[in-house]
Amino acid sequence: MIRPSVLVVEDDAALRQFLATALGAQGYRVIEASTLGEAMVAVTSHNPDAVVLDLGLPDGDGLRLVREVRRWSTLPIVVVSARGREADKIEALDLGADDYLTQPFGNGELLARVRVALRHRATGAAPVATVECGGLRLDLDKRVVTRDGAEVSLTPTEFKLIAYFARNLGRVLTHRQILHEVWGPNSGEHAHYVRVYMAELRKKLEADPARPQWLVTEPGVGYRLREG
Ligand code: CA
Repeated sequence: MIRPSVLVVEDDAALRQFLATALGAQGYRVIEASTLGEAMVAVTSHNPDAVVLDLGLPDGDGLRLVREVRRWSTLPIVVVSARGREADKIEALDLGADDYLTQPFGNGELLARVRVALRHRATGAAPVATVECGGLRLDLDKRVVTRDGAEVSLTPTEFKLIAYFARNLGRVLTHRQILHEVWGPNSGEHAHYVRVYMAELRKKLEADPARPQWLVTEPGVGYRLREG
């Protein structure tokens, strides 16, 4: 089996080394770039399976790479960002980045994000039939949701919302992406719907809606359905 390759774009040599070592230890082939220019060349010359991308690069903004790559490829991109830069994360995700890591982060978090991003690329747009997390079981074909074996009654909009999360299991979804997917392109004025419907879903699906285990909040960014 060919080992998946990951392009690591990071100008901080110590952090780049940390990323390369962690990914290398998991069997990934690692390609390193320390500038936006090197990264732009590496995505085409090395054709990596995924990219771990720092946004603050000496010769430009990493967002440019996301924008450029998304014009021709679904190559998974995991953005590395400093704490408190929510606006950057949201912009990267809305441009088509798959996920983000906030510094400082550990090996486990890094590897989980890369694994999820690679899996979503591997399955592509193939329809996911069933998703299980903890006691939740989401059957998207039959449109049946059960919690600990008991069927949960959802409205059509609630089902549309949870189905979107199920198809993106493990990935963060921004408020804007959720609004657009569930309520359509002209839903800007309905931004509060996301919060209201998420609260309803948590009441129906979580054992303790105040401390959600599965439908977790990504502060300032959006929500994620955690992998079980
Ligand atoms: Ca940097």
